[in-house]
Amino acid sequence: MDIVKRYGNLIKKSMYNPQTALNLIKTGLSLEKLRVSKFRDKHLPPSLQYLNKICIQYILEPLRNPNNCGLVNLFAPTEILHAMGIYPLFIEAFSSFLSGFTCEDYFIDYASNCGFSETLCSYHKAFLGAIDSGLISKPSFAVTSSMICDANINTFRHCSHNYNIPFYIIDIPYEYNKDTESYVANQIKEMVCMIEDAMSKSLDVNKLKEILILENSTLYYRKLFYNKLKTKYFPNTLTLEMYKLFTSHVALGRKETYKFYKMQSEDIQYFNRTSCKKILWVHLLPFYHKTLKDYFNLSREYQLLTCDFSFDYMEELDYNNPFNALAKKMLLNQYNGSFEKKAKNILKTAKVLDADAVINFCHWGCKQSTGGTMILKDLLKENNIPFLSIDGDGVDRRNTQDGQIKTRVEAFLEIIDTTQRKKVI
Ligand code: SF4
Repeated sequence: MDIVKRYGNLIKKSMYNPQTALNLIKTGLSLEKLRVSKFRDKHLPPSLQYLNKICIQYILEPLRNPNNCGLVNLFAPTEILHAMGIYPLFIEAFSSFLSGFTCEDYFIDYASNCGFSETLCSYHKAFLGAIDSGLISKPSFAVTSSMICDANINTFRHCSHNYNIPFYIIDIPYEYNKDTESYVANQIKEMVCMIEDAMSKSLDVNKLKEILILENSTLYYRKLFYNKLKTKYFPNTLTLEMYKLFTSHVALGRKETYKFYKMQSEDIQYFNRTSCKKILWVHLLPFYHKTLKDYFNLSREYQLLTCDFSFDYMEELDYNNPFNALAKKMLLNQYNGSFEKKAKNILKTAKVLDADAVINFCHWGCKQSTGGTMILKDLLKENNIPFLSIDGDGVDRRNTQDGQIKTRVEAFLEIIDTTQRKKVI
């Protein structure tokens, strides 16, 4: 049994006292942060080593400071929290870390035993299990939105009820226009009032503007990097790509995130032109999956370019109107609105990055990704971009069939090797 699995078992066995289990999680994360800070991984450029470090820091901060933290999901306007010096606890990432510790099954089963549906997305289910079992210390508030995810609102409502903390759901209409922008901006202002009450501190709007200015500067380096990625090789792994969900979303506006993208745009200059088959990933990545790791982690044959979340909103923010800028960012996100909009943006991203193929991951329990697969498949087929859709679970190892994924991925890669952009399976 490997050391991570032993440690995961220790966490599970310690759940008779959830505080002990949480301390083990924090200790494990702290040791991992120390390891990635002190010992250089010769396979990774400095920027990706730095990414490893800051993402562990981003999950540790709210766990160490429960009195100064709020629950958020991937699309919450966390710039407000950064401006107020509050740590966001990114719930989907926390579930991924439970999976990283190989103890996700305990919390998923705990949620099932509490009556949560078998078909609920496991990012939510693991988090709900962690809440109901008492693993996570009480945060101060929770914020989410109506965007994309059918599970979010109920999960956040449950957390709020369980901890008796205030929560805010930002209602995001499907269409963008000036009226919907004002509608969402007003809700964000209301949300700020709720956070100010919960935290007994005020938002400094000038600080918020500074955060948005830094986010714009970060965007400059993100775009610079992706421009170069079109022709150059750059190492990647499934885990690093999942870590980038912090830097492209919840931790945008943080100075560490800015530093990461700046470093990455510099690091790529030292890599050669690519001769790999370039793969654009759609949706989340099952970072633990052996076959997928074998094919894509640091591969010089099949380069994992990025996942489509990195391109879901790539516009500058009008920092002089910060609430409207954040509203616009949510309304125009590729994940808000019809699946056709998302599919078109994936096609555009595939063209921008000159991808040779697209792999779509249908995560167990995620209705939006599963429901839209045929729309995406048809659009990519019309554009002669090879497409594969695989089913699995990004968190719960028990829900992913290794043999089936192996057979399908192998067959797909053989096809793109031989027919290059001619066939869609
Ligand atoms: S995978 Fe789907 S259901 Fe799960 S959190 Fe993401 S959007 Fe929601």
